Amino acid sequence: MDKWIFIIDVEACEDCNNCFLSCKDEYIDNDFPPYSIAQPKHGQRWMNIERKERGQCPMVDVAFLPTPCMHCDNAPCIKKAKNGAVYKSNNGIVIIDPDKARGQKDIVDACPYGAIWWNENKQVAQKCTMCVHLLNDGWKKPRCVQSCPTGALRFVSGEDSAIAQIIKDEKLEPLHPEYNAKPRVYYKNLYRFNRCFIGGTVAVQKKGVTDCVEGAMVTLYKDSEKVYEAITDNYGDFKFDNLEENSGKYRLEISARSYDKKTIEVDLIASINVGTIML
Ligand code: SF4
Ligand code: SF4
Repeated sequence: MDKWIFIIDVEACEDCNNCFLSCKDEYIDNDFPPYSIAQPKHGQRWMNIERKERGQCPMVDVAFLPTPCMHCDNAPCIKKAKNGAVYKSNNGIVIIDPDKARGQKDIVDACPYGAIWWNENKQVAQKCTMCVHLLNDGWKKPRCVQSCPTGALRFVSGEDSAIAQIIKDEKLEPLHPEYNAKPRVYYKNLYRFNRCFIGGTVAVQKKGVTDCVEGAMVTLYKDSEKVYEAITDNYGDFKFDNLEENSGKYRLEISARSYDKKTIEVDLIASINVGTIML
Protein backbone atom coordinates (compact mmCIF):
# COMPACT_ATOMS: atom_id res chain seq x y z
CA MET A 1 0.00 0.00 0.00
CA ASP A 2 1.22 3.51 -0.83
CA LYS A 3 2.05 5.71 2.17
CA TRP A 4 2.46 9.47 2.45
CA ILE A 5 5.47 11.53 3.46
CA PHE A 6 6.15 15.25 3.71
CA ILE A 7 9.36 16.55 2.10
CA ILE A 8 10.40 19.97 3.41
CA ASP A 9 13.20 22.05 1.86
CA VAL A 10 14.60 24.31 4.59
CA GLU A 11 16.46 26.45 2.05
CA ALA A 12 13.25 27.17 0.11
CA CYS A 13 11.13 28.24 3.10
CA GLU A 14 10.67 32.01 3.38
CA ASP A 15 8.55 32.06 6.55
CA CYS A 16 5.55 33.50 4.69
CA ASN A 17 3.25 31.49 7.01
CA ASN A 18 0.83 30.55 4.22
CA CYS A 19 1.03 26.92 5.39
CA PHE A 20 0.25 27.89 8.97
CA LEU A 21 -2.67 30.10 7.89
CA SER A 22 -4.19 27.59 5.47
CA CYS A 23 -4.12 25.02 8.29
CA LYS A 24 -6.00 27.51 10.48
CA ASP A 25 -8.47 28.17 7.65
CA GLU A 26 -9.14 24.46 7.26
CA TYR A 27 -9.53 23.51 10.90
CA ILE A 28 -10.80 26.48 12.94
CA ASP A 29 -14.54 25.99 13.56
CA ASN A 30 -14.53 22.80 11.47
CA ASP A 31 -14.93 19.26 12.82
CA PHE A 32 -13.85 16.41 10.58
CA PRO A 33 -15.06 13.27 12.36
CA PRO A 34 -13.69 10.75 13.01
CA TYR A 35 -10.27 12.36 12.47
CA SER A 36 -10.33 15.75 14.18
CA ILE A 37 -12.39 18.30 16.02
CA ALA A 38 -12.13 22.04 15.43
CA GLN A 39 -8.81 23.72 16.18
CA PRO A 40 -9.16 26.59 18.69
CA LYS A 41 -8.64 30.10 17.31
CA HIS A 42 -5.52 30.65 19.42
CA GLY A 43 -2.68 28.71 20.95
CA GLN A 44 -2.16 25.79 18.55
CA ARG A 45 0.39 25.58 15.73
CA TRP A 46 -0.19 22.32 13.87
CA MET A 47 2.27 23.62 11.27
CA ASN A 48 4.84 25.26 13.52
CA ILE A 49 7.68 27.24 11.93
CA GLU A 50 10.89 27.47 13.93
CA ARG A 51 13.47 30.16 13.15
CA LYS A 52 17.23 30.23 13.48
CA GLU A 53 19.78 32.99 12.87
CA ARG A 54 23.40 31.98 12.27
CA GLY A 55 26.65 33.93 12.27
CA GLN A 56 27.50 37.51 13.15
CA CYS A 57 27.17 40.72 11.16
CA PRO A 58 27.88 41.09 8.27
CA MET A 59 27.94 37.32 7.62
CA VAL A 60 24.50 36.30 8.86
CA ASP A 61 21.82 33.99 7.52
CA VAL A 62 18.38 32.96 8.73
CA ALA A 63 16.68 29.60 8.23
CA PHE A 64 13.08 28.54 8.78
CA LEU A 65 12.02 25.05 9.78
CA PRO A 66 8.36 24.09 9.21
CA THR A 67 7.53 21.33 11.72
CA PRO A 68 4.19 19.52 11.51
CA CYS A 69 3.53 16.22 13.27
CA MET A 70 6.16 13.79 11.92
CA HIS A 71 3.62 10.93 11.52
CA CYS A 72 6.22 8.61 13.02
CA ASP A 73 6.32 4.91 12.18
CA ASN A 74 7.52 4.21 15.73
CA ALA A 75 5.37 6.85 17.40
CA PRO A 76 5.72 7.40 21.16
CA CYS A 77 2.26 9.04 21.18
CA ILE A 78 0.67 5.78 19.97
CA LYS A 79 2.44 3.83 22.70
CA LYS A 80 1.33 6.31 25.37
CA ALA A 81 -2.35 6.48 24.43
CA LYS A 82 -4.88 4.22 26.09
CA ASN A 83 -7.73 2.41 24.30
CA GLY A 84 -6.09 2.80 20.88
CA ALA A 85 -6.84 6.54 21.03
CA VAL A 86 -3.87 7.27 18.73
CA TYR A 87 -3.34 5.00 15.75
CA LYS A 88 -1.53 4.75 12.45
CA SER A 89 -3.63 4.34 9.33
CA ASN A 90 -2.57 2.10 6.44
CA ASN A 91 -1.36 5.12 4.45
CA GLY A 92 1.16 6.12 7.15
CA ILE A 93 -0.85 8.91 8.79
CA VAL A 94 -0.98 9.09 12.60
CA ILE A 95 -4.43 10.06 13.87
CA ILE A 96 -5.62 11.08 17.34
CA ASP A 97 -9.21 9.85 17.70
CA PRO A 98 -10.88 12.85 19.37
CA ASP A 99 -13.50 10.74 21.16
CA LYS A 100 -11.18 8.06 22.51
CA ALA A 101 -8.44 10.57 23.41
CA ARG A 102 -10.68 12.82 25.52
CA GLY A 103 -9.09 13.44 28.92
CA GLN A 104 -5.73 11.85 28.00
CA LYS A 105 -3.52 14.90 28.53
CA ASP A 106 -0.35 12.83 28.92
CA ILE A 107 -0.43 12.11 25.16
CA VAL A 108 0.81 15.70 24.68
CA ASP A 109 4.03 15.10 26.60
CA ALA A 110 4.67 11.77 24.86
CA CYS A 111 5.60 13.51 21.61
CA PRO A 112 9.34 14.31 21.53
CA TYR A 113 8.77 16.82 18.72
CA GLY A 114 6.26 18.93 20.64
CA ALA A 115 3.74 18.40 17.81
CA ILE A 116 0.65 17.74 19.99
CA TRP A 117 -1.46 20.54 21.46
CA TRP A 118 -3.96 20.43 24.31
CA ASN A 119 -7.46 21.80 23.82
CA GLU A 120 -8.41 22.82 27.37
CA ASN A 121 -11.98 23.58 26.43
CA LYS A 122 -12.67 20.22 24.83
CA GLN A 123 -10.16 18.31 27.01
CA VAL A 124 -8.56 16.66 24.00
CA ALA A 125 -5.11 16.40 22.39
CA GLN A 126 -4.88 17.65 18.79
CA LYS A 127 -2.36 17.82 15.94
CA CYS A 128 -1.79 17.75 12.18
CA THR A 129 -3.76 15.02 10.37
CA MET A 130 -2.10 15.51 6.96
CA CYS A 131 -5.64 16.68 5.99
CA VAL A 132 -6.70 13.04 5.84
CA HIS A 133 -10.37 14.04 5.28
CA LEU A 134 -9.32 15.79 2.03
CA LEU A 135 -7.09 12.91 0.92
CA ASN A 136 -10.07 10.59 1.40
CA ASP A 137 -11.98 12.90 -0.96
CA GLY A 138 -9.30 12.49 -3.63
CA TRP A 139 -7.03 15.45 -2.83
CA LYS A 140 -3.37 14.80 -3.64
CA LYS A 141 -1.95 17.17 -1.03
CA PRO A 142 -2.94 18.83 2.26
CA ARG A 143 -3.87 22.52 2.46
CA CYS A 144 -0.42 23.59 3.72
CA VAL A 145 1.35 22.05 0.72
CA GLN A 146 -1.22 23.47 -1.68
CA SER A 147 -0.65 26.99 -0.34
CA CYS A 148 3.17 26.98 -0.24
CA PRO A 149 4.35 29.47 -2.90
CA THR A 150 8.00 28.42 -2.98
CA GLY A 151 7.76 24.63 -3.30
CA ALA A 152 9.34 24.25 0.15
CA LEU A 153 6.61 21.74 1.03
CA ARG A 154 6.00 18.60 -0.99
CA PHE A 155 3.69 15.66 -0.36
CA VAL A 156 4.65 12.35 -1.85
CA SER A 157 3.15 8.87 -1.70
CA GLY A 158 4.63 5.54 -2.65
CA GLU A 159 5.57 2.06 -1.54
CA ASP A 160 8.25 1.87 1.14
CA SER A 161 10.93 0.96 -1.43
CA ALA A 162 10.05 3.93 -3.70
CA ILE A 163 10.09 6.32 -0.73
CA ALA A 164 13.47 4.93 0.38
CA GLN A 165 14.85 5.63 -3.11
CA ILE A 166 13.59 9.24 -3.03
CA ILE A 167 15.22 9.75 0.38
CA LYS A 168 18.51 8.40 -0.96
CA ASP A 169 18.44 10.26 -4.29
CA GLU A 170 17.53 13.62 -2.74
CA LYS A 171 19.77 13.15 0.34
CA LEU A 172 16.86 13.77 2.70
CA GLU A 173 17.17 13.55 6.48
CA PRO A 174 14.69 13.23 9.34
CA LEU A 175 14.66 15.67 12.23
CA HIS A 176 16.20 14.25 15.43
CA PRO A 177 16.83 10.66 14.31
CA GLU A 178 18.13 10.06 17.84
CA TYR A 179 14.51 9.99 19.07
CA ASN A 180 14.18 6.71 17.14
CA ALA A 181 10.57 7.59 16.30
CA LYS A 182 11.05 6.92 12.54
CA PRO A 183 9.39 10.12 11.27
CA ARG A 184 7.58 10.34 7.92
CA VAL A 185 8.68 13.97 7.45
CA TYR A 186 11.98 14.36 5.61
CA TYR A 187 14.09 17.48 5.23
CA LYS A 188 16.28 18.80 2.47
CA ASN A 189 19.08 21.25 3.34
CA LEU A 190 18.54 20.66 7.05
CA TYR A 191 22.13 21.78 7.64
CA ARG A 192 20.87 25.36 7.30
CA PHE A 193 19.06 24.88 10.59
CA ASN A 194 20.98 22.36 12.66
CA ARG A 195 24.61 22.73 11.56
CA CYS A 196 26.95 25.68 11.46
CA PHE A 197 29.56 27.52 9.40
CA ILE A 198 32.98 29.15 9.70
CA GLY A 199 33.28 32.22 7.48
CA GLY A 200 35.37 35.31 7.11
CA THR A 201 36.96 37.83 4.79
CA VAL A 202 40.55 38.04 3.51
CA ALA A 203 42.03 41.50 2.95
CA VAL A 204 45.32 43.40 2.57
CA GLN A 205 46.52 46.93 3.16
CA LYS A 206 47.53 48.74 -0.02
CA LYS A 207 48.85 52.27 0.28
CA GLY A 208 46.92 52.76 3.52
CA VAL A 209 43.67 51.39 2.06
CA THR A 210 42.10 48.05 3.04
CA ASP A 211 41.36 45.98 -0.06
CA CYS A 212 39.64 42.59 -0.22
CA VAL A 213 41.58 39.68 -1.71
CA GLU A 214 39.78 37.72 -4.40
CA GLY A 215 41.13 34.25 -5.19
CA ALA A 216 42.90 33.55 -1.89
CA MET A 217 43.04 29.85 -0.98
CA VAL A 218 41.51 29.04 2.42
CA THR A 219 41.97 25.51 3.78
CA LEU A 220 40.12 24.14 6.79
CA TYR A 221 41.82 21.47 8.94
CA LYS A 222 40.48 19.38 11.80
CA ASP A 223 43.03 17.38 13.80
CA SER A 224 45.60 17.88 10.99
CA GLU A 225 43.15 16.42 8.42
CA LYS A 226 42.13 18.66 5.55
CA VAL A 227 38.33 19.07 5.71
CA TYR A 228 37.52 21.63 3.00
CA GLU A 229 39.13 24.13 0.66
CA ALA A 230 37.59 27.36 -0.59
CA ILE A 231 38.60 30.25 -2.82
CA THR A 232 37.62 33.73 -1.66
CA ASP A 233 35.07 35.53 -3.84
CA ASN A 234 35.37 39.07 -5.17
CA TYR A 235 34.49 40.46 -1.74
CA GLY A 236 37.32 38.39 -0.20
CA ASP A 237 34.71 36.21 1.55
CA PHE A 238 34.86 32.46 2.26
CA LYS A 239 32.43 30.17 4.05
CA PHE A 240 32.64 26.52 5.15
CA ASP A 241 29.14 25.27 5.94
CA ASN A 242 27.51 22.04 7.16
CA LEU A 243 29.86 21.67 10.17
CA GLU A 244 28.78 20.11 13.47
CA GLU A 245 28.07 22.56 16.27
CA ASN A 246 30.36 22.13 19.32
CA SER A 247 32.77 20.10 17.23
CA GLY A 248 35.97 21.48 18.77
CA LYS A 249 39.10 23.03 17.36
CA TYR A 250 39.72 23.79 13.66
CA ARG A 251 42.63 25.47 11.89
CA LEU A 252 42.31 27.82 8.94
CA GLU A 253 45.25 28.34 6.60
CA ILE A 254 45.02 31.30 4.23
CA SER A 255 47.40 31.78 1.35
CA ALA A 256 47.49 34.16 -1.59
CA ARG A 257 50.15 34.89 -4.18
CA SER A 258 52.82 37.36 -2.98
CA TYR A 259 51.61 37.35 0.64
CA ASP A 260 52.75 35.35 3.66
CA LYS A 261 50.57 32.43 4.70
CA LYS A 262 48.34 33.08 7.72
CA THR A 263 46.95 30.57 10.22
CA ILE A 264 43.93 31.01 12.49
CA GLU A 265 42.60 28.68 15.20
CA VAL A 266 38.85 28.40 15.75
CA ASP A 267 37.05 26.64 18.61
CA LEU A 268 33.73 25.88 16.94
CA ILE A 269 30.66 26.14 19.17
CA ALA A 270 28.15 27.68 16.74
CA SER A 271 28.35 29.53 13.41
CA ILE A 272 31.15 32.04 13.47
CA ASN A 273 32.31 34.90 11.30
CA VAL A 274 36.02 35.17 12.12
CA GLY A 275 36.01 38.68 10.67
CA THR A 276 38.64 40.25 8.41
CA ILE A 277 41.92 38.36 8.15
CA MET A 278 44.69 40.72 7.08
CA LEU A 279 47.50 39.14 5.05
FE1 SF4 B 1 3.19 11.27 17.50
FE2 SF4 B 1 4.79 13.37 17.83
FE3 SF4 B 1 5.49 11.45 16.09
FE4 SF4 B 1 3.44 13.08 15.54
S1 SF4 B 1 5.60 13.69 15.79
S2 SF4 B 1 3.46 10.84 15.31
S3 SF4 B 1 2.57 13.42 17.56
S4 SF4 B 1 5.26 11.23 18.33
FE1 SF4 C 1 7.68 28.20 4.28
FE2 SF4 C 1 6.06 27.34 2.28
FE3 SF4 C 1 5.15 27.54 4.82
FE4 SF4 C 1 5.67 29.77 3.40
S1 SF4 C 1 4.10 28.21 2.97
S2 SF4 C 1 6.24 29.37 5.56
S3 SF4 C 1 7.48 29.11 2.23
S4 SF4 C 1 6.75 26.16 4.09
